[in-house]
Amino acid sequence: MTTRNKMYFYFHNDNETIENLKPLFSLAEEHGFEVVDNAKKANIIVSIGGDGMFLQAVRKTGFRQDAIYAGLAREDESSFYCDFNLGSFDDLLDSVLKTELEVRRFPIITVQINDGTKFHSLNEVAVQSTIVKTIVMDVYIDDELFETFRGDGLVVSTPTGSTGYNKSANGAVVDPLIPSIQVSEVASMNNNNYRTLGSSFILNKDRKLTLKLKQEGNVHPIISLDNEAHSIQRIDNIVVTMDDQVIKTVKLKHNSFWDRVKRSFL
Ligand code: NAP
Repeated sequence: MTTRNKMYFYFHNDNETIENLKPLFSLAEEHGFEVVDNAKKANIIVSIGGDGMFLQAVRKTGFRQDAIYAGLAREDESSFYCDFNLGSFDDLLDSVLKTELEVRRFPIITVQINDGTKFHSLNEVAVQSTIVKTIVMDVYIDDELFETFRGDGLVVSTPTGSTGYNKSANGAVVDPLIPSIQVSEVASMNNNNYRTLGSSFILNKDRKLTLKLKQEGNVHPIISLDNEAHSIQRIDNIVVTMDDQVIKTVKLKHNSFWDRVKRSFL
């Protein structure tokens, strides 16, 4: 029996969902897993729902480095973080029970706001204006000024986040085997006063990206970290880095990242 035997389920906690999930809990127990009610006690964390739920599960359980995550999408859904769906829960259990468990490793970014608290993101951090006025930011790469952005906002994404908001902002889809940070613009103004690259750019994981917000009448930007928003007054600077931390997920064979890109977009 594997030592990965304590399973925590993250789901919408309503009576109907709990009823629907009872057979899953029983199946897990029949396979020798203990279903725990506290994520801290678990070494495998299963989210029920799509990518949005997976992102929440990872955030609410603290981006655990010592646990493995698995996403169970609803029956007929294809999603990026969920290799399994409710109908293939047995396959997930079988995969976890294998001695040589196959895992995916998804790089995450670290976001430090105003030299203070550090947060993690699995998809992206987005800095946006919440009012009709544009937002202005100096963009530094490794402490060197690169450009001054003026517009609706910037999206800074991980490789797995590249298929989310970043893609809608015309960013490139990046293979998660390339740990890197992508910066994409949302509606930049380009004129004789403000000039940006005008395309997304991708930084090596060892670079440091700093956004210094200019307080030009827009002091309430919103910062979204995956699907959670933080409205922090007077944000002066945001530093984005990538270290060696990853989110590990159970891997289903023959379901590569590029298979999922093809299924979702082509
Ligand atoms: P949501 O607004 O309810 O749904 C956003 C959609 O994006 C859902 O269909 C979700 O899939 C999908 N999604 C999430 N992560 C993805 C990824 N890495 N690759 C491809 N699709 C992905 O918000 P949510 O479900 O809580 O997800 C939050 C994410 O939404 C953010 O991290 C951001 O990437 C994305 N978003 C996109 C835009 C945009 O494209 N204009 C704007 C804001 C946020 P499921 O249906 O499987 O949950």
